[in-house]
Amino acid sequence: MDERRDPQPGDESPRRPVAAAVTLPPVQQAWSRYATHTLACPACRDIDQRCEESGRLYRAWQAQADAAYRRLRAETA
Ligand SMILES: [Zn+2]
Repeated sequence: MDERRDPQPGDESPRRPVAAAVTLPPVQQAWSRYATHTLACPACRDIDQRCEESGRLYRAWQAQADAAYRRLRAETA
């Protein structure tokens, strides 16, 4: 049986708290906007409806991801 112990120096919790002031990279911000929208939008949740905003946010995320990939490729080439 494991006994609870105080954190030791060098212990790294996999889920440490994130400071509120931290800003996500643009790719993650774009994905967050898309996911937040689709979870809350009635049209996105209805399989029989189309949502132009969702498509726009998804394409914006794709553009950010493509740009990040191109930058990474240029840096490692
Ligand atoms: Zn929507």
